[in-house]
Amino acid sequence: METPAPLEPLDETWQRALCIVAHPDDMEFGTAAAVARWTGQGKWVGYTMVTSGEAGIDALPPDECRVVREAEQVESARIVGVDTVDFLHQPDGVLEYGVAMRRLLTAEVRRHRPDIVITGNFRDTFGGRNLNQADHIAVGKAVLDAVRDAGNRWVFPEQLVGGLEPWGGVGAVWAAASPQSTHAVDTTDTFDAGVESLKAHVAYIDGLGWENWDPREFLEGFGRATGQRLGVAFAAPFEVFPMGWGD
Ligand SMILES: [Zn+2]
Repeated sequence: METPAPLEPLDETWQRALCIVAHPDDMEFGTAAAVARWTGQGKWVGYTMVTSGEAGIDALPPDECRVVREAEQVESARIVGVDTVDFLHQPDGVLEYGVAMRRLLTAEVRRHRPDIVITGNFRDTFGGRNLNQADHIAVGKAVLDAVRDAGNRWVFPEQLVGGLEPWGGVGAVWAAASPQSTHAVDTTDTFDAGVESLKAHVAYIDGLGWENWDPREFLEGFGRATGQRLGVAFAAPFEVFPMGWGD
């Protein structure tokens, strides 16, 4: 078997990160332990959920599911030190990449003024043959555009009222768990918080109906494989997209 390429340590000199993902639980399948590390360093991390994951539980109609999943996400965020969770209430399962989505995400970036924006993997696969999910791809692509849009006062200018200003301060977008990851962060010390954060999605995990599925075992497998490429016990991988023009 080919040895996987080593990963570079992520830059940690920033103060504010906004995580924009399609669904409740997207952060918890591998990235929450990294968030726990950063909030533990005194950084601010916020979550933006584009949907409420209301189409995620087969046995629960969306209007009931939405309430359950939002509550579970707020709790899983709290466990890793995140107090700000925005829900944009877009339709789960049928998100479309386009100007409408860029407008929503641009407003989030302008409002929270992050140094770094984190999203999920939006490549076609996670590295194997299984295809990625359509909402993840739509959101990831729109995040890259929205970060640029946010800095341009002539794009979505109707948002710039009541003191809201353009924000061009995002240095990079990081896509978690990308098969083309180049960087990683050591999550060894905060690994347990990441496990607890995933476990907070009680109704969702139950609804998956995966027999004998263990959140800790799942996160350990992925975290250990990444850790080996960084030279630590556990790590979370990211593909880095620099958002300046010169780098
Ligand atoms: Zn998802």
